[in-house]
Amino acid sequence: MNLVDRIVQFHHEIRDIRRDIHAHPEICYEETRTSDVVAGKLQEWGIPVVRGLGGTGVVGSVSNGTSTRAIGLRADIDALPMQEFNEFAHRSRHHGKMHACGHDGHTAMLLAAARYLSQHRDFDGTVHFIFQPAEEGGAGAQRMIDDGLFAKAPCDAVFGMHNWPGLKVGQFALRSGPVMAGSNVFTINIGGKGGHAAMPDNSVDPVLVATHVVQALQSIITRNKRPTDSAVISVTQIHTGEAYNVIPDSATICGTVRTFTVEVLDLIEERMRQIVQQLPPAFGASGSLNFQRNYPPTINHAQETGFARTVLEDVVGAESVFDFEPTMGSEDFAFMLLAKPGCYIVAGNGDGTHRASGHGLGPCMLHNPSYDFNDDLIPVGATYWVRLAERFLARSA
Ligand SMILES: [Zn+2]
Ligand SMILES: [Zn+2]
Repeated sequence: MNLVDRIVQFHHEIRDIRRDIHAHPEICYEETRTSDVVAGKLQEWGIPVVRGLGGTGVVGSVSNGTSTRAIGLRADIDALPMQEFNEFAHRSRHHGKMHACGHDGHTAMLLAAARYLSQHRDFDGTVHFIFQPAEEGGAGAQRMIDDGLFAKAPCDAVFGMHNWPGLKVGQFALRSGPVMAGSNVFTINIGGKGGHAAMPDNSVDPVLVATHVVQALQSIITRNKRPTDSAVISVTQIHTGEAYNVIPDSATICGTVRTFTVEVLDLIEERMRQIVQQLPPAFGASGSLNFQRNYPPTINHAQETGFARTVLEDVVGAESVFDFEPTMGSEDFAFMLLAKPGCYIVAGNGDGTHRASGHGLGPCMLHNPSYDFNDDLIPVGATYWVRLAERFLARSA
């Protein structure tokens, strides 16, 4: 690996910042301490910051030379509402909150790159370091954009990175086109007629209707969309009834829909609406659908993906850069990729052995209560950020 020597030298300082953030997780727009830590470090290194975008977002900017070209590097800073099982010294101090997705590490890697680039300005243009809140469900990326992110920090391209358990440290994966699915949620209400469970002929049973609706929804996946298009409909909740001997008045069905394209999403929503409106009346019941589009699919741009790949190959070698297999997870960096060209990559977090002392049970998977970001990844990820920025803003000969 061709790591930046200076980053390797101050790695332990960045590791301590990472562990401090890990110990003090904050969720969804509540990242005030984290935001203070990030802004404090940037200012300590002489980097001007803009705060308040997306509430707790922080943007640091480093310029050099005369070029108006600019690159945006983005890290998410939020934690998850879940209890940590780890028992090492830097475990969460906040009950019911945990950095189980490694955003503490993403923040640390970008801080390391900011520190290096502010002290070694071997480029012509501007690097914007974007620290974004509320990735986990709060659409913090969109809120930063709504608050004027790209007006205050104009970028020609934006890049994102997520740690990836299972890949070794020093391995990366990326892909042009869709990499993460769009995330959407729905609520279906079935209106029936309640009554005595021993006299169902006096009722319209919403429980029975709900089970038919759930099954009909899956026919969209197998019979309506093209088999070559990926999509998931998962019903995750059915709420109805409270007694053994009462047919309830209504039922509620909830779940999520994931797709890689808006076209497939449009088809699924339309077919769901037809099923929900037309199937329950066949049973004498009524149905209504509330469909909410949350995160769009994360779609990498071809040119920027090719560029990121050449940088990665220089840092870790072509044999350690893999083609990413798209996942049905979702990621709000998708909003930034709708606003600007760019690329989102994943960086190996190892197999979990970095937690050898003191970790709890379970694999080191994202959102697992025994997860921890691998500190060995800090100089690797930070080197990628540095080389990406330096080459994107390379001085013209
Ligand atoms: Zn996550
Ligand atoms: Zn994450």
